[in-house]
Amino acid sequence: MTEPTEHTVDIYGAGLAGCEAAWQAAKRGCRVRLWEMKPEKKTPAHSYNGFAELVCSNSLRSADITSGVGLLKEELRRLGSLIMEAADATSVSAGGALAVDRTAFSDYITAKIAECENIEVLCREMTEIPAYGVTVIATGPLTSGKMADAISALVGGEQLSFFDAAAPIVDFSSIDMTKAFFASRYGKGTPDYINCPMNREEYDAFYDALISAEEAKLHDFEAGEKLTVFEGCMPVEVMARRGRDTLRYGPMKPVGIHRPDTEENYYAVVQLRRENEEGTMFNLVGFQTHLTFPEQRRVFRMIPGLENAQFLRYGVMHRNTFLNSPKLLSRDYSMRSRETLFFAGQMTGVEGYIESAASGFTAGASAASKAMGGGAVTFPDTTMIGAMAKYVSCGGAGDFQPMNANFGILSHTADRIKGGKKERYRVYAQSALEEIGRAARSLNYEIN
Ligand SMILES: Cc1cc2nc3c(=O)[nH]c(=O)nc-3n(C[C@H](O)[C@H](O)[C@H](O)COP(=O)(O)OP(=O)(O)OC[C@H]3O[C@@H](n4cnc5c(N)ncnc54)[C@H](O)[C@@H]3O)c2cc1C
Repeated sequence: MTEPTEHTVDIYGAGLAGCEAAWQAAKRGCRVRLWEMKPEKKTPAHSYNGFAELVCSNSLRSADITSGVGLLKEELRRLGSLIMEAADATSVSAGGALAVDRTAFSDYITAKIAECENIEVLCREMTEIPAYGVTVIATGPLTSGKMADAISALVGGEQLSFFDAAAPIVDFSSIDMTKAFFASRYGKGTPDYINCPMNREEYDAFYDALISAEEAKLHDFEAGEKLTVFEGCMPVEVMARRGRDTLRYGPMKPVGIHRPDTEENYYAVVQLRRENEEGTMFNLVGFQTHLTFPEQRRVFRMIPGLENAQFLRYGVMHRNTFLNSPKLLSRDYSMRSRETLFFAGQMTGVEGYIESAASGFTAGASAASKAMGGGAVTFPDTTMIGAMAKYVSCGGAGDFQPMNANFGILSHTADRIKGGKKERYRVYAQSALEEIGRAARSLNYEIN
C-alpha cells in the first residue's frame, strides 16, 4: 500500500457505510481510496459483486418522518446522501416503506463510485490498521477474520463483540404504570427498575406462550455458531424450556420485590432497566431473544403493564462484530485516542442499513474535514443523525447494544405537545429537519 498523500482518505469496505463515507469525502475534495475485498473474497452473507449490497431485506423501512428511520432518511436525503439518492432512483412499491430493487440499487452506487474522479477503488482484503493517515474502517458486521483480529488488537479484545444478543427495548410512555411500578430488589439503592408483576395464572399463560412461540430462522453460517452464542447469552425462550420454574430463579425472580404502596409479593416479576439517561426507553432485563418480531409483540405484551408496549427495538441474536463504542469513539465516529482513525457502519453499534449509511455520512464528512486540516463534523442531537452518533459515543445506561434510529434517543426542546405520540413525533421531526438545514448551512454544505 502506497503512503497516503495530503488530503487522502482511505476507506475500508464498500458497504452501505463505506460507500456513503467515500462519496462524502470525495465530494468535499479529498482523494479517496476505497478498499473492498469483493469480488475476490466475500463474507458468508454477501453474494453480489456490486457495492452497498443489501444482504437481507430489500426494505429500507418506513418512509414516514414520524418514524425514527423515516426521519433519518429525510435528513440524509436533504444532506445529499448517495445511499438515499440511489434508494429514491431504484425504489419499488412497498406501501408506507421505502423498498428498492436491490440489484439496481447496488449497480447505481457502484457506477457512481466508479465514475467519481476523486475515488480510486482497490480490490483487497485489508488485514491491518495503518499507523498514520486518515482512515475510515467500515468493514461491517461480518468483517473478515484478519481485520477483526487487527481491530481487536487495537482496541483490546474485550471491547469487540462478535454476537448481538439484545433484549427488546420499549417506549416508557407506552408502559401501563398503574400495573407496573418502580422499585429495587430488597429496597437497595434507588428504585430505578420498572417491575411488571405476575400472579401464578399470568405466569403459566405467559410461560406456555413463550416456550411454543416461533423463533426466527438462523442463517446457515450462524447455525454452526449457535452453541457459542447461546452459552454466553441464552435466549429467554431457551432458558424457559429448561423447566417451568427456571425463569422464576432467573430473569423473572420475584424475591425481594414488593409494590411500595401495598407491600404485595408476586409469583414472578419482569424487570425493565433504563436504557438512556432521559428514561424514555427501557429494556426487558435478561430477555434477549430469538423469537420472530411478531411473536415478541404477541408474547411480551402478555406481561402485565406491557399490553400496549411500543417496541423501539426488538430482541435479536445474530453474528455481529461491533465495538464498545461509548468507550472508544467520539461524536464524529473517530477514535478518542486517535482522531484521524474512524469507524463507520454497523460495527460502531448502529443497527440497520440506513443507520449504517448515516454513520458513514458523518465519518466521511469528518474524515474529509480533518484530512483538509479542519475539525470534527458533528450534528446536533436534536437531529436523528446526531442522536445516533450521541447514542454510539455516549451509550446507554447498561451494556452497550446496537440500536436502530428511534425517537427515544432524540433530544428535543419542544414544550408539551397536544395530540398523542404521532403528533409529538411530527413536531420533533419538523424541528429536526430545520436543525439539519441550519447545520448544513453552518458547514457550507449544499442542502436539498
Ligand atoms: C445477515 C445480516 C442480515 C441483515 N439484515 C438486515 C436487514 O434486513 N435490514 C437492515 O436494515 N439491516 C440488516 N442488517 C444489518 C446491517 O444494516 C447490514 O449489515 C448493513 O449492510 C451494514 O452496513 P455496513 O456498511 O456496516 O456493512 P456492509 O454493508 O456489510 O459492508 C461491509 C463491506 O466491507 C467488506 N469487507 C469486510 N471485511 C473486509 C476487509 N477485511 N477488507 C476489505 N473489505 C472488507 C465487505 O465485503 C462489505 O462489502 C443485517 C446484517 C446481517 C449480518
